[in-house]
Amino acid sequence: MNLRIPGPTPCPPEVLEATGRQMINHRGPEFADLLARLTSGLQTIFQTKKDVFILTTSGTGAMEAAVVNTLSPGDRVLNVSIGAFGDRFASIAETYGVDVVRMEFEWGKAADPDEIEKALAADPAIKAVLITHNETATGVTNDLETVAKVVRRFDKLLLVDAVSSLGAIPLPVDEWDVDVAVTASQKGFKVPPALAFASVSERAWKAAAEAKIPRFYLDFAKARDFRDKGQTPWTPAVSVFFGLEVALDVLLKEGIENIFARHARIGNKTREAVKSLGLQLFADERFASNTVTAVRVPESVDGPSLNKLMREEYGTVLAGGQARLAGKIFRIGHLGLVSEADIDATMDALRKALPRVGFQVPAAAS
Ligand SMILES: *Cc1c(COP(=O)(O)O)cnc(C)c1O
Repeated sequence: MNLRIPGPTPCPPEVLEATGRQMINHRGPEFADLLARLTSGLQTIFQTKKDVFILTTSGTGAMEAAVVNTLSPGDRVLNVSIGAFGDRFASIAETYGVDVVRMEFEWGKAADPDEIEKALAADPAIKAVLITHNETATGVTNDLETVAKVVRRFDKLLLVDAVSSLGAIPLPVDEWDVDVAVTASQKGFKVPPALAFASVSERAWKAAAEAKIPRFYLDFAKARDFRDKGQTPWTPAVSVFFGLEVALDVLLKEGIENIFARHARIGNKTREAVKSLGLQLFADERFASNTVTAVRVPESVDGPSLNKLMREEYGTVLAGGQARLAGKIFRIGHLGLVSEADIDATMDALRKALPRVGFQVPAAAS
């Protein structure tokens, strides 16, 4: 099966094998060594010397951790959304009584840093900016470097959902001075779902000391106290830790610069191939994501029927559209374990499937 969804992504065999190992004592020396190695490997991928915690939760749990550890009920934040995951960040904050100013950009477009600057200038009460680095629902990557500069100039907290970018698209956490960046095991890291990773800056620790939102399971301070003893506060997903160790070895051997270059090359190849099939990209191409490509479903085609045909007869699993984009787009995941050959196979399948659901592919399509 060619699993071309933006997570869970395929795992290398050696990662899957590692997850089948016998359990160890998560309060023993072997686990302490493992935790130390994994933390240091993650710091390399995050390009940070800040604290990085491994939480047993999916990516959404880490987004929730970013909110509950740094904010108090009634705090005002600016939530910058360009799609369904951006909206989710706002919903989490609202659930905990945060006063969320929702800044929304048209789906398919990137956030405009000038608008963020204006909003921060107009409302000094805003304490933090919440933003998605790579919006998986629309296939758009925000210009986080510029956004981060704006946020720093106003000295606000910057909380970033980097679930579908970290480890695939450059996000140098220290250089851009991001306060909390969160990601998850099942996207760029080629590890099964179950773990999320969060970096925490000094500024975020200061905010945490005053933050009044109730927290228990996701408390960063507890994670830090236990990390210092070589443990996690609660029983971790030990099997997935084993898988992560192997996956990090593979990633670090490839080298982060090579990983970024591979994703850029494959993202570009995917977009060019999609266009040559006569299809239209959903995203503003200047900000098109190198981890997921969203494609408009042609007028004449029923989106779910195309995905069904691709899965059942061409062994290719694509993602559909989320929320208001259901049936309007399909998405091709190209992050983590992905090669040029995987994209060639996907395009081959699309070239055969599209005419069968009512879309004529240009004869010259290669
Ligand atoms: C996948 C994803 C999430 C959510 O992750 P879960 O692991 O499903 O909780 C959040 N944000 C973005 C941008 C994602 O791609």
